[in-house]
Parts: sequence; C-alpha cells; structure tokens
Amino acid sequence: MLVNTKEMLQAAQAGKYAVPAFNIHNLETVQVVARTAAELESPVILAATPGTVAYAGPEFLLAMAAVAARKYPVPMSLHLDHFQDPDMLIELIDMGFPSVMIDASHHPFAENVALVRSVVEYARQKDVSVEAELGRLGGREEDLEVDNSDAFLTDPAEAQEFVSATGVDSLAVAIGTAHGLYKAAPRLDYKRLAEISLRLSVPLVLHGGSGVPDKSVRETIRRGVCKVNIATELKVAFAAGVKEHFSVKPEADDPRQYMEPGKALMKQVVKDKILMCGSDGKGGRSK
Ligand SMILES: [Zn+2]
Repeated sequence: MLVNTKEMLQAAQAGKYAVPAFNIHNLETVQVVARTAAELESPVILAATPGTVAYAGPEFLLAMAAVAARKYPVPMSLHLDHFQDPDMLIELIDMGFPSVMIDASHHPFAENVALVRSVVEYARQKDVSVEAELGRLGGREEDLEVDNSDAFLTDPAEAQEFVSATGVDSLAVAIGTAHGLYKAAPRLDYKRLAEISLRLSVPLVLHGGSGVPDKSVRETIRRGVCKVNIATELKVAFAAGVKEHFSVKPEADDPRQYMEPGKALMKQVVKDKILMCGSDGKGGRSK
C-alpha cells in the first residue's frame, strides 16, 4: 500500500539516514525505482512534479505507484513535488495522493505561512503528509525556474516560526543547492543547516540533490536532512542509455529494446543514491 511520508521520514530521522525521493515520469521509471528500492530493501519516495502529472495523468501515476507498492514489500510513497496551487493539491489529495509539497516559497513569509497552513489543515483530515519550502533554491526544474538573484538561503529563526505556524510535516531548506545541473560544485552552508536542525524537530529535506558529491550529501544527512530529492541525474542517465542504443542501432524502433539501456543506466544511479542516503536495509518487512 502507498503510505504517506511522515513515518518513513521520522524513522529516517531517528536512524540518521535519509529516504531518497526519485522523480518518475512513466511506467519505466516507476519500475526502475520501485524494483531497485526493493532489491536494496530501502524505503522510497516516488516524486511527481506538476509537469509529470500533466504529462502522465494523475490516475495513471497513482495506479502505477499503487501496483508497485503492492508488489514490493518496502515502504513506498507517491509525493507531489513543487505544487504551487493549493486548489490543485486539494483535488489531487482527494484522488488519493498520500504526500504533497506545497511550494509557496516565492511568496512573502506571511503569505507562505497562510497558504501552507491551509493545505496542512486539509491534508491532516486525509492522513496526507505535507512538505513546504522556506528560502528559495536557484536553478531550474522543468517549468520552475528561479534566477540566482531571487534565490536565498533559509533563515533558522524564520524556519522555526514557519514550522510552528504551519504545522508542516517536513521542511525543504535552501542551504546552497540548486535545481538542475551544476556548473561548479555547490558550496553548502552546513553551519546554517546545523542551526536549523537544532531549532526544528521536523525532518529536513534537501532539494537539488543531483550532482552534489556523495560526501557532501552525507554531511547534510548528519545534520538533519532526512529526504534527498534526485531528479536530473536520473533523466541524464536514462537519456544517455537510449542515445547510446540509437547511436549503435539507428534503425531501432522497438521501445522494449531501446528503453532497456536507459533503464539500466538509471538503475545504477538509483542504487548509488540509495547507498549514499544509507537507506538500504531500512525498509525490510514493512506494510
Ligand atoms: Zn525541488
């Protein structure tokens, strides 16, 4: 059964590891993520952006994830990532999505609080977990693009006020990561993260995990990060496998054949990230 992300993140917090959240888009990517997580006995979060929901359709996503969660005995969630429209979230919660992110980080503090609180109040009644973001990541994730001059890091005191005013279950923090690919290795503000962690009891979330060295991600996990989002690296790997296939066999026309190399390369990334998060072996014998 698909579960919300509350308990799996609390378990990660207690166990000092992180649960990876992998962006999925279609049947193939759901299969790769779910199978690999099961092989490594890792709890796992399948994440879908507004672009993915528009592309695949919410019913297909829910059905595919539900089948995966029935088939593989690890804690599995389907999480809506970076939704900015609370009305759309309410509709999707009603359809059965168990975990959501309301991203109102582009609004001033008070509006961010009000929007997030309205979603939390609704989600609570349905046992749905809610993530929000304070501070703003730069970079690009699909149609979400934030200029570096608009990006800002999370203020620890504000974060404390934000969480108690909204009642969110987890908080995405901006500590120097960005969405998309990095031109240079990101410089992470560990001190800020440690300070946020000290003030908050909710699990923290690291967005923009693609391209951050494993060592740095582990440092963030040591300082309270319990969920690490991976999107871009998966897409790059999948595309590389498919491109390689076509470069060798330009006449290929069978998706059952040309998708396989993409799946294989993506699988390796999923595996590496699970090991990086230290979530392997943490999802055994679950509901
Ligand atoms: Zn993100």
